[in-house]
Amino acid sequence: MSDILFLSISELHAKLEAKELSCVELTKRFLERAETVQKELNAFITLLPERAMAQAVQADKVFAEGRQTILTGIPYAAKDNYNIAGVRTTAGSKILENYIAPYTATAIIRLETAGAVCIGKTNMDEFAMGSSTEYSAYGPARNPYNPNLVPGGSSGGSAVAVATGSCVFALGTETGGSVRLPAAFCGIVGMKTTYGRISRYGIIPLASSIDVVSPCARSVFDAAIVTGWLAGADPLDSTTPDVPIDNYEGHLNANTSLVGKKLGIPKEYIQAEGLDPAVKQVMEKVMAQCEAAGAELVEVSLPLTKYALPAYYVLVPSEASSNLARHNGVTFGFRSTGTSTAQELIELSRDEGFGAEPKRRSMLGTFALSSGYHEAYYGRAQKVRTLLRQEFETVFKQVDALLTPTSAMPPFVFGEKSDPLQMYLVDLFTLPTNLAGVSAISIPGGVTPDGLPVGAQFITPQFAEDSLFQIAYAAEHVLKVEPPPLAV
Ligand code: GLN
Repeated sequence: MSDILFLSISELHAKLEAKELSCVELTKRFLERAETVQKELNAFITLLPERAMAQAVQADKVFAEGRQTILTGIPYAAKDNYNIAGVRTTAGSKILENYIAPYTATAIIRLETAGAVCIGKTNMDEFAMGSSTEYSAYGPARNPYNPNLVPGGSSGGSAVAVATGSCVFALGTETGGSVRLPAAFCGIVGMKTTYGRISRYGIIPLASSIDVVSPCARSVFDAAIVTGWLAGADPLDSTTPDVPIDNYEGHLNANTSLVGKKLGIPKEYIQAEGLDPAVKQVMEKVMAQCEAAGAELVEVSLPLTKYALPAYYVLVPSEASSNLARHNGVTFGFRSTGTSTAQELIELSRDEGFGAEPKRRSMLGTFALSSGYHEAYYGRAQKVRTLLRQEFETVFKQVDALLTPTSAMPPFVFGEKSDPLQMYLVDLFTLPTNLAGVSAISIPGGVTPDGLPVGAQFITPQFAEDSLFQIAYAAEHVLKVEPPPLAV
């Protein structure tokens, strides 16, 4: 029965259809697994057994009435920055430890209207700031293959939950790589959709002009199914244009191949100084296998890559400082006690409620936006962002997709990147795509000699999710990476 935990959405759907098991039985199995995993790896901030069982009962009714979708009764998890009405939503911060969301995010509504069952809210770096899920007010999440290592972040809990068979798929969010990176470190698939492809309504923001909904799953096919249900314009999010949604998974089949696909290999990534030799070795094999499967590899250059990180760390703290201003101990969330003035209440609530990184970004961002400096910092970083986008547009005139490592390094030990600058560097290969707003995916690329997963990243233009899924699906079937043995 434990195999059930690692089946795909389609396989589980077939079993539910055939009445080999009920939605209630399925949900129970996943909840049990999630509880076991939780003790060792801290993937969740809140498990939702009662809500999930009620949803499963409902899903069985829907099956009985013949109104099911492919997601009916399928257990999933959501990062703890998705609001779900009536459910505690902390964003990994003490400042929201008792916050019960009064409304539900559009992404959650879309999944649950289709019948998916939410088993829990996953662990994350505070306010999605981080790359390791070490900096959650609820303790760190741990890597499923070696609990002494980080799972990647900030959506680390979601990736751990999926990798360990605690749920079938999960929602994370990305601002700079927060799903692709933990997906790479946990040996699963992480999808960063085009900015605006999926509604952000109801998600606790990090940087509103960059944040995207990002699903993770154990296969490209499952990620494609989930993306299809989530995508599309939402009147509650004015940054979601009415761009048609392709039948993503419908275009993935035995004929999907890499033959004739031009894959650009950006030299700024594959020749980067800090690239770990084990990652480089895996990537060389990935490139050779893609080429043998009919892809044409073309060396390309993205010279502005080096400006992405500095621009990101002006833009994101600026927007974060503005978004974090609402947490003041007055209207909702944590409130410091024993204060005597309004000023003191706000100061102490923020001081006691926020961890180090939100404080750091509030200060950086407030400085960068202050009068007299706004143009020098935020304005210039926005210009860099436009140039980066144009650079990607130019390179996509030559190639169908880019192929790069997802991260320059394999999973690292806790505390190794305690210097914030070292931690910021972890996203070097993911955050340029976030600034450019294009679509990108991380799939398992291989395993290091130490038995740790390495992610391979494909990048396609804005709203080119359809061709991205096809290329990633073909590559996944060529590479056939077996995940290392789980520790739990
Ligand atoms: N590590 C990056 C940051 O801290 C990315 C975070 C994210 O994608 N949410 O900003």
